[in-house]
Amino acid sequence: MLRRKKKKEVKLKILGSGREVGRSGILLEYGDTKLLLDYGVALGSEEPSFPLHVAPRELDGILLTHAHLDHSGAVPLLYVSETKPLYTTPLTLELSQILIMDFLKISKFYVPYEAIELKNMMHYSKFVKYGEKITVGDCEIEIIESGHIPGSCMFKVRVDDLTVLYTGDYNTTETCLLSGFDKNIARKVDILITEATYAAFDHPSREKVEKEFIGKINEVLEGGGNVLIPAFSVGRAQEIMCVLAKHDVEYPVYLDGMARVVADLLLYYKDLLRDPKLYEKAYNRVKIVTGWRMRKKALKKPSVIISPAGMLKGGASVFYMEKILDEPKHAVFFVSYLIEGTPGRKTIEEGVFATKKGLNKVKARIEWFDFSSHVSRKGLREVAKELPSHAHVVVVHSGEEGENFIKYCREELNLPVYFPENGSELIFHF
Ligand SMILES: [Zn+2]
Ligand SMILES: [Zn+2]
Repeated sequence: MLRRKKKKEVKLKILGSGREVGRSGILLEYGDTKLLLDYGVALGSEEPSFPLHVAPRELDGILLTHAHLDHSGAVPLLYVSETKPLYTTPLTLELSQILIMDFLKISKFYVPYEAIELKNMMHYSKFVKYGEKITVGDCEIEIIESGHIPGSCMFKVRVDDLTVLYTGDYNTTETCLLSGFDKNIARKVDILITEATYAAFDHPSREKVEKEFIGKINEVLEGGGNVLIPAFSVGRAQEIMCVLAKHDVEYPVYLDGMARVVADLLLYYKDLLRDPKLYEKAYNRVKIVTGWRMRKKALKKPSVIISPAGMLKGGASVFYMEKILDEPKHAVFFVSYLIEGTPGRKTIEEGVFATKKGLNKVKARIEWFDFSSHVSRKGLREVAKELPSHAHVVVVHSGEEGENFIKYCREELNLPVYFPENGSELIFHF
């Protein structure tokens, strides 16, 4: 008797990041195996929001792409009473611990877990490295470098003869800190689950951005001013350190806030960076701020000060901003994305900054530079072009910008594309 071959299926449930940037969370099911891809929070408003619920006891493993809270911030929730393995790189785990501890400190009233759950999460993690292949349940998983932030990776999940690539956040452009994602990897992918944060936007070339950035910094320094660079603690602050070292900016460069801890950590992991020597040079040149006396000293002579928060929402950057905003010889140069409603966005759009004394007009020079670590419209299209003609594309981690990329995949490449909402399920038979 002829036995009919049973059809196999892969199911994706979108728990978060469906038609939004933030709270990433996708459940991948194949046979009896259930993998959770990221589990983050959505920040932006005062109260963070979480992805849809998943029963941790049903999971075979959690795969964490990188440390940013929109991918990692809800993972401790899965460790209230369960002990499932968390697969990630050692650096991502260390950076996640730093960011989640800070998140707990700032938003503790809204976060439904505590430090003990974070400790459990750390305890049950299993380390992976770039290029490695691991087996979880019926899935074989390959770890791929994604070029987004130090330690970040993608997961290429192989089930039977089907390959699913979950990108997390990624960058196809080489930066001072990291090599870009190798788009050739898309050639053997059947289902691509991709971020599309900047699907409607092309970044200017790095070379051009760096040249303009350094030129303007030197103008301010030569005019006797201080340049404040509010930057995210993880990745961006260290990228800026490297840009300044690469171009041999001769004035003192100070590093403040949580970026200091991360800078130390990256020295330990420097072999994961594109150019460990450049990083070492940058680290040795930078002056680590050790207290209030040094903070004041940094402002006495022309200098560059790199400090979180990147959006001027708090941290040491606010102290520096209050000191420099009134004088045209000083400058504030933004290098990070600025969410609407944040003090940074108000500074750039309206030229004002609120202090305890009230609203101030910012007389210091204000500029914004595109040092994005996300794939651009062009990069996304290049990756999609590498896909085989039968591939399916699932777009997540994107607002309405995603439509731009979807149209391209459908009309130019004739690929089936999905732009699922949170809560929806996609089933692929093969
Ligand atoms: Zn990210
Ligand atoms: Zn993200």
